[in-house]
Amino acid sequence: RTTLRLDKALTHLGYGSRSDIKKYVKQGLITVNGLKAKDSGMHVHPDTDVILLDGEQIRYREFIYVMLHKPPGVVSATEDNRDRTVLDLLSPEYLAFEPFPVGRLDKDTEGLLLLTNDGKLAHELLSPRRHVPKTYTALVLGEVDDDDVKRFAEGVTLDDGYVTLPGELAVLERKREGEEIVSRIELTIHEGKFHQVKRMFQSVGKKVIYLKRIRMGRLNLDPSLKLGEYRELTEEELALLT
Ligand code: URA
Repeated sequence: RTTLRLDKALTHLGYGSRSDIKKYVKQGLITVNGLKAKDSGMHVHPDTDVILLDGEQIRYREFIYVMLHKPPGVVSATEDNRDRTVLDLLSPEYLAFEPFPVGRLDKDTEGLLLLTNDGKLAHELLSPRRHVPKTYTALVLGEVDDDDVKRFAEGVTLDDGYVTLPGELAVLERKREGEEIVSRIELTIHEGKFHQVKRMFQSVGKKVIYLKRIRMGRLNLDPSLKLGEYRELTEEELALLT
C-alpha cells in the first residue's frame, strides 16, 4: 500500500492549502489513528488510517470523475497560452485532484466532457480498439439526406485519405433559415479523429455550423446541466463507463 504525506492527502481532499494543514497540526486539530499528528509531512496510509480533523473523520478517495457541460469558447486542455481552458471552470476543491479532460472537444463544440484524474479509465475510454461510441447533435448547412445517411453507414473518406468506421446518422429536422436549409442531425461515431464530425460532413460537401456531444459510451449528458455547469458522476454513471 502506498503512503502519502498527511498535508498532501488533506490538500488533495480540499481541506485547505499545505500551510493550512500545517497550522491545523500546530493547533493539535489532527489525529491519526487516535494520536495527535506532530508533523504535517508525516506519512499516512490515507485509505486505511483513521484521520480526524477537528473530530471529523476524513474520507479519502483517490479519483474524481466530473461531468462538464462544456460551453463554446474554452479549450479542452489543462493549460493554454491564449484561451481559457475547461479547468478554469472548476472550483479549487476539484482542481486539487488534478483532473484532465478525457479526450477533446473543439473550442467551438459544446456538450459532454468528462474530467478525471483516473488515467486508466481515461485511457480505456480513448483507446482506439475499444471503439467507445460518441453521439453528437449538430446543425448542418444544407439538406442532409438519405444518401448521406448511407454513405456515413459505409464509412466516408476524410481529407487525409482516412476511411472512417461506419457512423450512424439520423436526420431529426430540416428547417429554412433565410435563404438556407439547415438540417438538425444526430450522429454516433466509434472513433475520435481530429475534427471528425466536421470532416465527415465536409467529405459529403456540407458544413457543420453547431456541434454538441450528448453521449459517450453509455453516459448521457445530464440535461439539467447548463452550459459551463458540472457535477461529479454518480456511482451508477461511473459503473456505466467501466
Ligand atoms: N468532431 C468534431 O469535429 N469536433 C469535436 O469537437 C468533436 C467531434
